Amino acid sequence: MWQIEHQCPQCGAPVTLQENDRLLKCGYCRVELYITSEGCMRYCIPCSAPVEQIIYVPYWRFRGAAFYCTIPTMRHSFIDSTYIAADIKNIPEALGLRPQALKLRFASTDIKAAAFLPETSFKETLPLIQQRLSIAENISMITNVYYKEFIGENLSLIYAPYLLKGNMLYDAVLNRPAASIDPELQETLLTGDKQLKWKASFIPTLCPNCGADIKCTRHSLALACASCNTLWSQDNGTLSRMKFSILKNAERGTNHLPFWRMEAEINGIQLASYADLARHANLPKAVKPEWESMQLSFWAPAFNTTPEIFRRLSRQLTAIQPPSEQRINSAIPDNPLDITIPASEAIESIMLTLADISVDKKELYPKLKKIRVNPESARLVYIPFSYNSHEYINKQYCISIYKKSLDAAPSI
Ligand SMILES: [Zn+2]
Ligand SMILES: [Zn+2]
Repeated sequence: MWQIEHQCPQCGAPVTLQENDRLLKCGYCRVELYITSEGCMRYCIPCSAPVEQIIYVPYWRFRGAAFYCTIPTMRHSFIDSTYIAADIKNIPEALGLRPQALKLRFASTDIKAAAFLPETSFKETLPLIQQRLSIAENISMITNVYYKEFIGENLSLIYAPYLLKGNMLYDAVLNRPAASIDPELQETLLTGDKQLKWKASFIPTLCPNCGADIKCTRHSLALACASCNTLWSQDNGTLSRMKFSILKNAERGTNHLPFWRMEAEINGIQLASYADLARHANLPKAVKPEWESMQLSFWAPAFNTTPEIFRRLSRQLTAIQPPSEQRINSAIPDNPLDITIPASEAIESIMLTLADISVDKKELYPKLKKIRVNPESARLVYIPFSYNSHEYINKQYCISIYKKSLDAAPSI
């Protein structure tokens, strides 16, 4: 796990954070602050060169699962890697192990460098990453990939420091040549922004609704206020209220696991109602007339787990369609599992679940490219599970989840 060194915004003491930490806890002044940002987190790799001479080159850092729709079955692989986010040839495509050996710093408007190169979007970069990975895993060689998707648990930008000396670009950490640069590119490099417009914000863990202290866990993407039963997520430096439901508790001695329930308009295939799904997935139940008008929801875990379990839970809950009734004004569950997958990532799983649950993959997969998913809504739903030392169990839905699959890395 990568580490970030920062100074406590309140007392200035050094604090070491892990890259997916959302909470800064100062060991000296005891302040607790929630870390937010506009877009993904951005970090710089430290080096001893004078900062005003440094050209910072961005790299995407991503951790998550790639899913490939292939016949006869869907495949997945876990990815934990970096890839250059700028269109420059000759420079190393990935960062290798360096960031793990060094403590990163938050990138910030305070750093005045020679240039910060603008990043290419992750969507634009992903096909290049997937191409590299497919080759590495032999996926493209052996079979047709009809659709692929990446679902990330962590996406950030890392700025690696380089120095321009004559026509050579030097790696400023290793102090050795990285690439020879033609004059036109030299000019482009130096026209990058001298300062970033990005910074991390550290906000008090106080409920925006009632002002109470919010108990916050280290990795959770949401803050739950036990005083007024509200749930908050960060959105560009401010907290905004999240809608949520809690399913009725049929289990004893429960823990609550968070899931996303998502509605979407599907074009290119008839999949609007539960009856459509029952036919599409060949569910072992007779289609009832009322199912024809029952809106279909797609489900996905809102917590990190292995790609296998992510797929299985998404399929199971989508096939079950848990009821949408809600316990209004009821308390937020005690110690629910952390929400670590945002709705924006979960939405990407709709197409995968649609493909994974299909009974006739040979018929469906060649048509996947023509299917369009237009997400309409996403709501967080807590589902109660009883548990023992090994697993979480929901007897009503016949679902069990090994606890190990939640803690173990790799995960998504
Ligand atoms: Zn402090
Ligand atoms: Zn509150």
